[in-house]
Amino acid sequence: MDEISFHSNGREFRVPAKPIVVVCIDGCGDDYLAHAMLRDCMPRLREMARTGFYGIVRGALPSFTNVNNASIVTGLPPSAHGICGNYFLDANLGEEVMMNSPKYLNSPTILSHASAAGRRVAMVTAKEKLRDILSVDLQGIAVSAEKANQARMETHGIDNVEQIVGHPTPPIYSADASLFVLRAGVALLEQGLSDFLYLSLTDYMQHRYAPWEAESLEFHAALDVEIGRLLDLGAILACTADHGMNAKADAAGRPNVIYLETELAERFGPGVRVICPITDPYVVHHGALGSAVTVYLSDASCIEEARRWLLGRPGVSEVYDRLSAGSCLELPVDRIGDLFVLSERNYVLGRTPKDHDLSALEGPLRSHGGRYEQMVPLVISRPLNRDYQIRAAGDPRNFEVFDFVCNGVTE
Ligand SMILES: [Zn+2]
Repeated sequence: MDEISFHSNGREFRVPAKPIVVVCIDGCGDDYLAHAMLRDCMPRLREMARTGFYGIVRGALPSFTNVNNASIVTGLPPSAHGICGNYFLDANLGEEVMMNSPKYLNSPTILSHASAAGRRVAMVTAKEKLRDILSVDLQGIAVSAEKANQARMETHGIDNVEQIVGHPTPPIYSADASLFVLRAGVALLEQGLSDFLYLSLTDYMQHRYAPWEAESLEFHAALDVEIGRLLDLGAILACTADHGMNAKADAAGRPNVIYLETELAERFGPGVRVICPITDPYVVHHGALGSAVTVYLSDASCIEEARRWLLGRPGVSEVYDRLSAGSCLELPVDRIGDLFVLSERNYVLGRTPKDHDLSALEGPLRSHGGRYEQMVPLVISRPLNRDYQIRAAGDPRNFEVFDFVCNGVTE
């Protein structure tokens, strides 16, 4: 592979002649790594943190998967790339739609630029929805674990994924869905099929288990084996996350849900619409309940009154009008409602009781989306150079990970 340099979204990337691998461990708050390392479940990651770089970085809000993955592959906040949830009210259509189409991504990706500059780029995601959004203009391999057996050379840049990886297509609700992504990365690197990789896992395990539970520790030990293989293949490796994960339960362990559309309609009349941007087809994870929602009011004269009422509602932590959400939360103002609301750490925000099927949940409600899941770890296998040490001491972002790993490490 060649040393290359290219520009992407206002930044220059100087990529050394070494394999570059960025891993996004979905839902990996620092507590997951801390508990796993304390119990000696992640010896390779611990060594990487000790000899390279280990810090905490700030993700994009709302702290959801598509939002942060779009940020990571573009190096930009949501206000620039446009992806601010899984689901939104498309003002042009007047309809609530999934945001999982590349037509909603307003910026080109670092991956497409790296492939155009001559690196063999591969993106492996756990979920197919993410592959759809992020593979735009990528001249390389783009495959999901979820539909690995459907990948074709013409459309995915690769055939026979199961044979190459040596594992069958995993069920999406499994630890294997994430492990498959890492194993695919190992296989692509080992077989010389790629030298610039983005590997994005799924948070099924984190939604289900707290950091100290045996199942979680076992999962992280299995991740560590694959991380070790990537390191042994000579990769410059960075591991970060899209968001963390917290229990969203009351003292009795019941889900702490604020049905915001119901409550707002009682006070401000009908016509209130609450959009839960976490809404996606994978309901077993979270029942479409997260810690961030946006609110459309039919009567614009109520916005300020509703904002003040919401701030006084226990469980609500932050409320922004549209313009403040644009500036304070880096959100695209044309894709959010009149108000943007974040909840406290152990609360989630919903629409009405009938909109959320809590019976689909396997186990207690653990979710994300708000401020308390925004800070995530960043571990890089090489020490940072002087310039990037200074940047890391400031306000580094998870979506600067490609910048850090390409431009910021010592030789
Ligand atoms: Zn999630």
